[in-house]
Amino acid sequence: MYECPKCGGKLDVIMSNDVKLDKCISCGGIWFDDGELYKLLTTSVSLMIDGLESTDTVAYNKQEGYCPLCNMVKLERIQSKTDPDLVIDKCPSCHGVWLERGELTALTIKAKKSDLLDIIKG
Ligand SMILES: [Zn+2]
Ligand SMILES: [Zn+2]
Repeated sequence: MYECPKCGGKLDVIMSNDVKLDKCISCGGIWFDDGELYKLLTTSVSLMIDGLESTDTVAYNKQEGYCPLCNMVKLERIQSKTDPDLVIDKCPSCHGVWLERGELTALTIKAKKSDLLDIIKG
């Protein structure tokens, strides 16, 4: 079982559209292996996997984290071109992506899909 890169909680495996995701049971952040987020965003995203609670995740969003898979590899902070408040964490080694709780919803509702697809493809 993996450890949350932000709060140190445990990541729980959940399924959505045949994609296996790791979600933190403490802070609600979600880990996507390479390609998983892309797959989700290019099909229909079930927002049920994202918490609807408006818990404050601002602190976690600003916090640096280490990849839950690669241990001591620091996650890269990648800022959205269209929304400076949106920063996603990506592992430079395995290319997995970490989203804070609420970010997946924000990305789909605010029509920033293409922006995000750029980020995760590159
Ligand atoms: Zn967490
Ligand atoms: Zn990694």
